[in-house]
Amino acid sequence: MVLKVPLLDVPTQNGVLKKELMEAFEKVLDSGFFILGPEVEAFEQEVAAYLGVDHAIGISSGTDALIVALLAAGVGPGDEVICPSFTFFATAGSIVRVGAVPVFVDSEEDSFNLDLQGAGELVTEKTKAIMPVHLFGRCAAMGKVMAFARKHDLVVIEDTAQSLGASICSKKCGTIGDFGSYSFFPSKNLGGFGDGGMVSCRDAELAERVRRLRNHGMFPKYFHSEVGGNFRLDALQAALLRKKLPHLDAYAAGRSENAAFYREAFTDLDPERVTLPLAGTVDEGVIWNQFTLKVHGERDALKEHLLEHGVGCEIYYPVPLHRQECFAGLPERSLPVAEKLAEEVLSIPVYAELGEDRRERVVEVVKAFLKS
Ligand SMILES: *Cc1c(COP(=O)(O)O)cnc(C)c1O
Repeated sequence: MVLKVPLLDVPTQNGVLKKELMEAFEKVLDSGFFILGPEVEAFEQEVAAYLGVDHAIGISSGTDALIVALLAAGVGPGDEVICPSFTFFATAGSIVRVGAVPVFVDSEEDSFNLDLQGAGELVTEKTKAIMPVHLFGRCAAMGKVMAFARKHDLVVIEDTAQSLGASICSKKCGTIGDFGSYSFFPSKNLGGFGDGGMVSCRDAELAERVRRLRNHGMFPKYFHSEVGGNFRLDALQAALLRKKLPHLDAYAAGRSENAAFYREAFTDLDPERVTLPLAGTVDEGVIWNQFTLKVHGERDALKEHLLEHGVGCEIYYPVPLHRQECFAGLPERSLPVAEKLAEEVLSIPVYAELGEDRRERVVEVVKAFLKS
């Protein structure tokens, strides 16, 4: 029997907690209280304490968390928001959904994160915000982002969907800018049981605005000072996530150990053919949501080889956002690194439950390809 290695193994992580999760489910079932309420409030407080911020607001998804943060920041029609092109679609999609225009910047080849070199030229009177993404679990260079934002008077919304739990200079990723936005999509570091998200922020007034906007801009009941939406988090989602939050650091440690194993096992790879991601631990701002190889010239062949041998892998992301059909109307921009990354990246399994046998199998199958 050949050992199969799925790209993700959600059932194993949740299976360990099955009893607690079932109890949480029953508690919500019996309460009859399914939207916001005490479970959401408790979860918000626990996440705020974990992040070391004053305010965390439960939201319906990571995408909605970005939308609500943008709305709360006052970003709207006619405004421009700087963001990387090499990221998941929601980063730019949320900007367009509030009526603003994404202005794409290129990425750093080694960190995969946004590169602000030369980005000053892109700032206009319309530029309102910047949205760094902490891609694949690696903190973006927030020192540079904050200096850039201060210089140009921009709101900073950190897309932390892939990096909840990482910290840099003892600050949690997502808590450095004005807003942090998080996702509990099942494949993220804190994987939920459906869609869910969170916004963190440091300012009390902005936090109140986020709370209002998530519920149709309503306060008090049936009085609407502005238009928000239904961006509410379910009580069930919060109750279940409360059972997983205490394990987040252990999940991160497991990912870190797998990443360290790969780096060691792959030290002899020919850098002309495959480049490993930069090293990094949780305290150095890396939580290993993905372990992403750069494969020079033969990426699709390696992907095929891995899949043929039962090793899950995925291309995050094959098309940079400035090349997406829906953004064809935006000004043409040359972003060579984003384009190169889209052709070279390949992510392999790194989740905490991987285990020794499976990660060894991944290494064996990658190496077999490179011997051929
Ligand atoms: C997953 C993700 C989102 C969106 O989160 P959802 O909960 O799926 O809506 C936003 N940005 C990035 C970078 C993501 O990876």
